[in-house]
Amino acid sequence: MTKHVVVVGGGIVGCATAYFAARDGLRVTLLERRELAFGASGRNPGFVWLHCRNPGFALEVSLRGRALYPELLEELPGGFEFRPNGGLIYFNTPEQGTVFEEFVAARRAHGLEVELIDGAEVRRLVPPIREDVLGASFCPLDAQITTSTVVRALAAGARAEGAEVREGVGVDALLLAGDEVVGVVTDEGPLEADAVVVAAGVWSRGLLAGLGIDVPIGHERLQVLATDPLPPSIEALVYGPLATKQYQLFRELPSWDAGLFTAGYEDERAIEMLLLLAQRENGEILMGCPMDYPEEIDLRPTLAGLLATARAVSEDFPGLRNVPMNRAWAGSLPYTADMVPVIDEVRPGLFLAAGHVFGNAAGPMTGRLIAQLVQGQEPEMDLSEARFDRGLAPIELGAAARW
Ligand SMILES: Cc1cc2nc3c(=O)[nH]c(=O)nc-3n(C[C@H](O)[C@H](O)[C@H](O)COP(=O)(O)OP(=O)(O)OC[C@H]3O[C@@H](n4cnc5c(N)ncnc54)[C@H](O)[C@@H]3O)c2cc1C
Repeated sequence: MTKHVVVVGGGIVGCATAYFAARDGLRVTLLERRELAFGASGRNPGFVWLHCRNPGFALEVSLRGRALYPELLEELPGGFEFRPNGGLIYFNTPEQGTVFEEFVAARRAHGLEVELIDGAEVRRLVPPIREDVLGASFCPLDAQITTSTVVRALAAGARAEGAEVREGVGVDALLLAGDEVVGVVTDEGPLEADAVVVAAGVWSRGLLAGLGIDVPIGHERLQVLATDPLPPSIEALVYGPLATKQYQLFRELPSWDAGLFTAGYEDERAIEMLLLLAQRENGEILMGCPMDYPEEIDLRPTLAGLLATARAVSEDFPGLRNVPMNRAWAGSLPYTADMVPVIDEVRPGLFLAAGHVFGNAAGPMTGRLIAQLVQGQEPEMDLSEARFDRGLAPIELGAAARW
């Protein structure tokens, strides 16, 4: 008999799981408590960001995930927004430039294609940027998606392969028979399954806590500001120097000095800027991302976040000071202590695909890997770094989590 798989969560990970499992001939039901892309997948600015992925599983799964996009674009009904224009991290001072030279050398040693470009090239790629920008690291593999369009295309692809995708149905608990998970309890009643895949992002921890399983997944709030649609001007994805301190890769460089990459208005325990910019196909410019660590999952933007974004963007992009703003939002980004997601069978019948810091790059590939695990196949990637029992450290609530 065909295996019935219930997938919990309609973000990029859950919808990719549903798509690949249905394509492999499994019977799939996806349950989303709110609407597709309600969570982090509908709130992020769409960076498929190879540039700063740590070597090992994180970089490998991201490279493979990046390579999946052109295939998905062909396969999925309706398509989605995908702009393979590369990404850059600019710098403004010679001292920062020294750190970037080391960064580019380190990335190349990891086998990633990254180069240094000069200030004139940065100004060509990002016309609203400050005149005195000195240069940038540039990774041609970085690409931009509008993640909600990818999520909906994956769900449409899953439906076309026979999956049932249900919005407005929440899972309140997991059904147990002995040690085995045999289904879910939804707000409409029980539903039996041969396998349950929990892909509920930051909410996965709460769901598994009901079984007495502690999954150390933290939640970090990031905020985004969007302009009205504007004429196209920004081709590449853009990160600013303030963003570098979020990455261990930068922090471990010999000439790293956090003081070179910190603004006076930032505060590690209150708000820091993952300074970024991206323009969507419809012309909206997205600006972000202030980061903080509320104790509870909180999807509301804050005045402090908006202020820090306005300050950072207006200092570095004088050409944007007077553009019409349209809206602001916040989302909750999941992470584990080692910044690698959990992709594993954690109890018989229970699969966990959660804790993604960089779900745009890794989400589609995670769905494919989980579909393979559910079928008892050897996964196409070595998953030892993503195992549940790898000895994940606990999460320190409220503390800055470096990626
Ligand atoms: C503002 C922001 C910026 C980011 N920037 C980037 C970026 O540029 N690049 C990148 O790669 N990553 C980025 N991330 C991270 C990225 O968004 C996540 O890695 C990715 O979206 C995680 O996908 P997911 O499917 O695991 O979770 P989500 O997208 O959060 O999906 C989980 C879904 O599960 C549903 N759900 C929860 N509980 C239940 C339940 N009990 N029953 C049914 N449904 C349930 C939720 O409603 C939600 O829709 C960012 C995140 C944020 C918030």
